[in-house]
Amino acid sequence: MRTFDYARADTPGNAIKAAANGQAMYLAGGTTLLDLVKLDVMQPDQVVDINRLPLKQIETLPDGRLRVGALVSNTDLARHAWVREHYPVLSQALLAGASTQLRNKATTGGNIMQRVRCNYFRDGISPCNKRQPGSGCAAIDGLNRSVHAVLGTSEHCIASHPSDMCVAVAAIGAKVTVQGGTGSRDIDFADFHLLPGDTPWQEHALQPHELITHLTLDAPLPGSRSAYLKLRDRTSYQFALASSAVILVLDGARIAQARIALGGVGTKPWRARQAEQSLVGQTASAQAFEKAAELALQGAHAYAHNAFKIPLGQQAVIRNLRDLTA
Ligand SMILES: Cc1cc2nc3c(=O)[nH]c(=O)nc-3n(C[C@H](O)[C@H](O)[C@H](O)COP(=O)(O)OP(=O)(O)OC[C@H]3O[C@@H](n4cnc5c(N)ncnc54)[C@H](O)[C@@H]3O)c2cc1C
Ligand code: SF4
Repeated sequence: MRTFDYARADTPGNAIKAAANGQAMYLAGGTTLLDLVKLDVMQPDQVVDINRLPLKQIETLPDGRLRVGALVSNTDLARHAWVREHYPVLSQALLAGASTQLRNKATTGGNIMQRVRCNYFRDGISPCNKRQPGSGCAAIDGLNRSVHAVLGTSEHCIASHPSDMCVAVAAIGAKVTVQGGTGSRDIDFADFHLLPGDTPWQEHALQPHELITHLTLDAPLPGSRSAYLKLRDRTSYQFALASSAVILVLDGARIAQARIALGGVGTKPWRARQAEQSLVGQTASAQAFEKAAELALQGAHAYAHNAFKIPLGQQAVIRNLRDLTA
């Protein structure tokens, strides 16, 4: 058995101080951390419980943005009236994730920080560059069907980013506010998650012991409609094989603005900017949607068992666009 110290913090400053030494990790809902500690994949020597920090508010800001505390639960965010009205894509993405019990515990900050679902990462013994830098990647020549990516992969890691919420947030646009020993800073959500490249163990832009305090979502596009479509092996309690978050502003039958992000297929929440640009000014049509879907998966690289994710990802885009404009 591996032991660790436990501390409970009541202010962000105290949490950061408590985490300043050794392999400390913050405990929010615990739905990722506790599993991975039990599997001996995450090995904190100190766990800092942040559940008493005053970070549970959802506030609308005067400029139309939405400020979400890092400890707002996935359920509370999904059920928030303003989110349901202005960001249905976010509400739907959250409700498509995990189970009711997990969403009640899981937090906004923890969801952004959740770890990959690659079996070789989680088994604690296979070669895995993410868990043990330099050990190799068992997935590249192994079973790489459902939780492995076709976009943004490298020769060192091909695990897909598992979050549904983050796909919606990528389409919406947001800033992640983090606090460290020397103050607060904002990180663009698009820059928060890192591609694996040569350093797959570096998953995000946080400095050691920085704490996420808020997620601030961009103001909704006036007149927009949005939806999240998740395609998976089973229709509940399952990670996405491919998913799409789409936000559209229509001017009659013409598409005036478009935002598209993909899940299940990328090593990070995947914003498809070229696909978006291809739609602007177009009349909503099967041809325009197919072109956008092709651009969304441009550059995809398939592995032995996940080639099907390329057409599936395209279909996730096409179907979402079709339903939103029907
Ligand atoms: C069976 C199962 C099924 C699931 N299915 C889905 C699914 O379909 N879709 C989906 O998107 N997700 C799914 N999940 C993942 C789930 O959404 C995440 O486990 C959850 O969002 C993590 O939030 P948490 O608050 O429990 O994080 P924790 O487990 O508490 O923390 C996770 C990580 O984030 C760090 N952390 C937490 N809060 C902060 C903070 N404020 N600042 C800095 N670091 C922080 C922790 O130190 C830890 O490293 C599933 C999980 C399980 C167990
Ligand atoms: S895909 Fe990434 S997480 Fe999975 S075994 Fe390879 S390096 Fe590890």
